Amino acid sequence: MISKKVMVVVSVAVGLTAYAALNLDIDIHMKDVFAASPTEPLSDLDVYYPGTEALAPDEMRIVALGTGMPSPRPKQAAACFLVELGNGDKFFFDIGAGCHERIAAQKIPYDYLDKVFISHLHVDHYGDLASFWLGGTTMNRLTPLRIWGPSGHAPEYGTKYAMEHMQKMYLWDIATRAGVIDFRGGQLEINEFPYLTDNEVIFEENGVVIKSFPAIHAIDGAVSFILEWNDLTFVYGGDTAPNKWYIEYAKGADVAIHESFLDPTLLVTKQGFSPAEAMLVGTVAHTSPAQFGKVMSLVKPRLAIGYHFQNDFDTAPVATAAIRQTYDGMLALAQDYMVFNVTKDDIRVRMSAIDEDIFPSAPLKAKNAPNTSLLVPFSDFIIEGNVPFPEVLQPIYDDINKKYGTNLKPPGEE
Ligand SMILES: [Zn+2]
Ligand SMILES: [Zn+2]
Repeated sequence: MISKKVMVVVSVAVGLTAYAALNLDIDIHMKDVFAASPTEPLSDLDVYYPGTEALAPDEMRIVALGTGMPSPRPKQAAACFLVELGNGDKFFFDIGAGCHERIAAQKIPYDYLDKVFISHLHVDHYGDLASFWLGGTTMNRLTPLRIWGPSGHAPEYGTKYAMEHMQKMYLWDIATRAGVIDFRGGQLEINEFPYLTDNEVIFEENGVVIKSFPAIHAIDGAVSFILEWNDLTFVYGGDTAPNKWYIEYAKGADVAIHESFLDPTLLVTKQGFSPAEAMLVGTVAHTSPAQFGKVMSLVKPRLAIGYHFQNDFDTAPVATAAIRQTYDGMLALAQDYMVFNVTKDDIRVRMSAIDEDIFPSAPLKAKNAPNTSLLVPFSDFIIEGNVPFPEVLQPIYDDINKKYGTNLKPPGEE
């Protein structure tokens, strides 16, 4: 076995182009090099196919499902990271605009995806929550969705207020579903905690502890999270300027995620910002790559993950150069669908190959009959506009009843 420490640039073509600057210990197993068969599949494909790999009991899998900016682009959704643990628990850290399709691409039954931790109430950090929550009810989720998020400097700036008003905003949507399907998945469990929580526990279940600490971003009320399980520590930084809490509490983490915003120069050249805007947005409201590097040089995680910028062939090298001024540890600049398998002994970084033709998973438990007392009926005026086409509809009913042994009848004939 030859073992050497090298700096590598991983570039994998899997329908997407992956780019990560990594500093890895690479072990080359000579026997594997010569084990390739002309007829058998390769034993160790360097690609993750969602839904095909078991998690070991001591393993953590982190999937980047949104690594971009508020400005939408096909390649990157806004902030969302999924953490899956070997005990079966799964957690979202942020659920930003555009990430829902990437969540669905994981092929995980929605009943397992019931815990969402929101770092702050910017749309790029929880903009797909409503789609995931209400859309999930017809994707066979029968378990209430549990939300954790910070308070604000006044009650109406907190997560509880936002969630309660989200329920009001989607009253029409809820009214179309609640009396028609088993709507248990439409229930929300809202857990607001003080945004000034200073590395205190906000979640403790099943051997998993999650703590929150303050971030400095825009106005009061942004936070970051630490997840501890099985002697592994995962840190998720929401948007923030460099702050003392992250540097202290993330120290020595196995995986430390922190924003590494688009470099100020690129904010000017690529995004049309004035230099003053670029410096304000890129170094005060957010953390520039050079600042990210400095933070990680103090935190010294096993793996530092930067995100929250347009990660392209020409922007990633700018970020890497700025980060490497101060930080020489293991680094990944996350792209959507990048996957991290973490154990005490190893951290493996790959890209996913995504099946675009996905369907929701079947329900994990028996569905209850809908609560028809919640039905909102059509008005007579609308009903009178209905054109039933019985000669078309009846054969469909006959076919379904024959195939499935049911005795269903068209509306009005029950
Ligand atoms: Zn933000
Ligand atoms: Zn953001």
